[in-house]
Amino acid sequence: MIQDVLILGGGTAGFFMAASLKTHHPRLRVRVVRSPTLGIIGVGEGSTTDLLRFLHGFLRVPPEEFYRAVKPSLKLGIKFLWGKEDYHYTFSGALRQKFEPSGTPVGFACGESLADVDAVTSLMAAGKVFPRSPEGPWPLVNPTVGYHIENAELVAWLEAHAAKLGIEVIDGDLASVEQADGEIQALRLQDGQRLAADFFVDASGFRAELIGKALGTPFISYADSLFCDKAVVGGWARTDEPLLPYTTAETMSAGWAWQIEHPGRINRGYVYCSRFQSDAEAEAEFRAKNPKVGPTRVVPFVPGRYAHQWVGNVFAVGNAAGFVEPLEATSLLCIAHECRFLTTALAEGGLRKNHSMRASTDRLCGRLWDEIRDFLAIHYRFNQRLDTPFWRHCREHVALHGAQRLVEFYQENGPTFCLEVELLTPAQSIFQLEGFWLHLLGMGVPHGREDRLSAAERAQWATLRAANRAVGAQGLTVEEALRVLHDPRWRWTPGFYKDIA
Ligand SMILES: Cc1cc2nc3c(=O)[nH]c(=O)nc-3n(C[C@H](O)[C@H](O)[C@H](O)COP(=O)(O)OP(=O)(O)OC[C@H]3O[C@@H](n4cnc5c(N)ncnc54)[C@H](O)[C@@H]3O)c2cc1C
Repeated sequence: MIQDVLILGGGTAGFFMAASLKTHHPRLRVRVVRSPTLGIIGVGEGSTTDLLRFLHGFLRVPPEEFYRAVKPSLKLGIKFLWGKEDYHYTFSGALRQKFEPSGTPVGFACGESLADVDAVTSLMAAGKVFPRSPEGPWPLVNPTVGYHIENAELVAWLEAHAAKLGIEVIDGDLASVEQADGEIQALRLQDGQRLAADFFVDASGFRAELIGKALGTPFISYADSLFCDKAVVGGWARTDEPLLPYTTAETMSAGWAWQIEHPGRINRGYVYCSRFQSDAEAEAEFRAKNPKVGPTRVVPFVPGRYAHQWVGNVFAVGNAAGFVEPLEATSLLCIAHECRFLTTALAEGGLRKNHSMRASTDRLCGRLWDEIRDFLAIHYRFNQRLDTPFWRHCREHVALHGAQRLVEFYQENGPTFCLEVELLTPAQSIFQLEGFWLHLLGMGVPHGREDRLSAAERAQWATLRAANRAVGAQGLTVEEALRVLHDPRWRWTPGFYKDIA
């Protein structure tokens, strides 16, 4: 029976896993070891809606506590300066809307443009975050929103939250790992401490001390789909820039740049491929775009994942398990899913060794990572915005893997959901079919059913877009919405963020 869990790593992944295990298994002893010399990675600021359902649903953290302590900003999605025309990627499932009575998905009307396809898209375009309530000055808060969070503030709050839950934190550097019979028995720290436990979590970031170095698990590279391997990161204190309700992803000559919005700061980073641009060239292009940027640093990374995430009595989470660039803000999403997967598997398996539970959970984690790779691959393969050597190389060589079949289906049939259960089982998918369809439409990938709409559907489309534009125009800005959400009179509806487990 597992009674004692030791987590190596006190970054976002380590503390989220500790909180997840302790919240759902309060009798477990949970300890976190973190290195005071190595510190945390300190980047990781954009999220999707999954993080909010995890935080406020699965971890039961009241939104008001989180807003007070971490001061997140709000995002409705990602604005892509990508493809033939800028477009908005939302978390709202816009392409599932249908024309009546035919049932034709609205995506068939989006060949020219995705503008105003739903109210969330129109809100983003207008720089607004929530619709205004007809009954007063407060917002109609939408649960399909994500956060922008400063990593250091998130980890500081996580540490305080862990203390409240009774999680022990040990400062020290790993010296060696004791193993027997394919399992880890104990970690030895450089100060001589020996820490034995029944179960270990590797949350040691890119160092992957347990899953990689100690256990020698093979690494699956994603380098045939994702060519970028470095990011130059910087930012500046906000002055008169509007606080935007989205992350921006902008095409650059050898990759792409993010812009993340915090109430007091703008953070930018340029993810690039070192085979096509030197650090100095990337820094120069980044600075030319962002003259206000202060000091920068370069963060190298290796896209890919370990072939197994749960080996014997070790489970890897966060950057220790795998990494893909933050083009769709998926690392916090992955951490949230990994924490739920392990916590639930241990509960369902009675906190005992359970081969089938371990093997299936391990496969599920691998599938999660691979779907993200496939999703990102289409962003690279079909982006026509720039004609640089890097982008020409992407259009010719990016391997689509699991997305190949989806793309071929789309090219022949357009953005239909009729075979969704066969193409991408919705319950298992992160982005769902609408995520893939939205990017293919946004990048102007042609399909064979461009002529599908009737005259009546075209008229409905014009009415729908006008109605969405009106909602967007009247919405609340992020500043206005945050003022309400921080107001002590604001009350969250109980169960607003439902647990997705
Ligand atoms: C350029 C870039 C941009 C990113 N942007 C985003 C984003 O927008 N959204 C998003 O969701 N994610 C983003 N990420 C991913 C983000 O970094 C992770 O989501 C998140 O911070 C998880 O980090 P971690 O806890 O796995 O690792 P870390 O923060 O690196 O933590 C590792 C922990 O392990 C400890 N440790 C390591 N080795 C040892 C040792 N030998 N002994 C003792 N302790 C040890 C460290 O001290 C630390 O406490 C980005 C990453 C990069 C590189």
